[in-house]
Amino acid sequence: MSQDPASVPASRPGKLLLVGFGPGSEEHLTFRAKKAIEEAECVIGYRTYIDLVRPLIAGKEVIQTGMTEEIERASLAVDLAYQGRTVALVSSGDVGIYGMAGLAFEVLADRGWTGSEISVEVIPGVTALSSCASVLGAPLMHDFASISLSDLLTPWEIIVKRLHAAAQADFVVALYNPKSSKRVRQIEEAQEIFLKYRTPETPVGIVKSATREGESIVISTISDMLSHPIGMLTTILIGNSQTKIFQNRMVTPRGYQRKYDIHTGDRLARSERR
Ligand code: SAH
Repeated sequence: MSQDPASVPASRPGKLLLVGFGPGSEEHLTFRAKKAIEEAECVIGYRTYIDLVRPLIAGKEVIQTGMTEEIERASLAVDLAYQGRTVALVSSGDVGIYGMAGLAFEVLADRGWTGSEISVEVIPGVTALSSCASVLGAPLMHDFASISLSDLLTPWEIIVKRLHAAAQADFVVALYNPKSSKRVRQIEEAQEIFLKYRTPETPVGIVKSATREGESIVISTISDMLSHPIGMLTTILIGNSQTKIFQNRMVTPRGYQRKYDIHTGDRLARSERR
């Protein structure tokens, strides 16, 4: 049956898919993220990230831009969706964790999006603290904080305040963006801050390119952490006062042994509790 042209909408509503594709290997890409990338007509991302999803995007329009062109990337993605296209704006890890999702919403607000002109879906991914924790062992078993050491968008005084607060409160801490060729001092200052509150022997995990080519996993200590290579592709996990090294794995106890006999599983009597 032929359709009455008048009943066909002038253009179909566009779709903006904000996709986190995980740490790098395709095995750590979620099913939904993979489907979203496949569904997209156009894929937009930072050049290095596009290379990581290259096998999935053959035959699609691909727009890759440099690292400092985030606003341009988000604006282009929104504009193309407004033109009726299905667009995937991709970030590594989780798109909503130091990724592109927030900026996309800021651009949508700027364009006057009321929530219906185009559809917007945020698709989560395995973030670096999770992938890096898993290759180290189980360091995030207790309360933790995530702090980015990049002061490009956040004033350094605020980052310092958060480092003190997290270190003092005995959070396990994940440090994103610890160092770049231009930003070398921040990680040194972070180390100094942690040494004020934790012993120099506190375990530190240093993971580069988790699940990607060039993966490196180092278990170190707060006092020794700076003697290892740290760069843009590294995440650092600083243990809390209870974090231990066991068979070259970094493990933060949840506290079971305070309440139970780990051998028998029996609950300890109140007087035996540690
Ligand atoms: N949206 C990303 C974070 C982007 S910020 C996520 O959720 O993971 C960039 C920082 O993420 C890097 O400086 C590094 O600290 C961390 N990172 C991203 N991928 C990583 C990986 N595969 N291995 C180690 N660190 C990674």
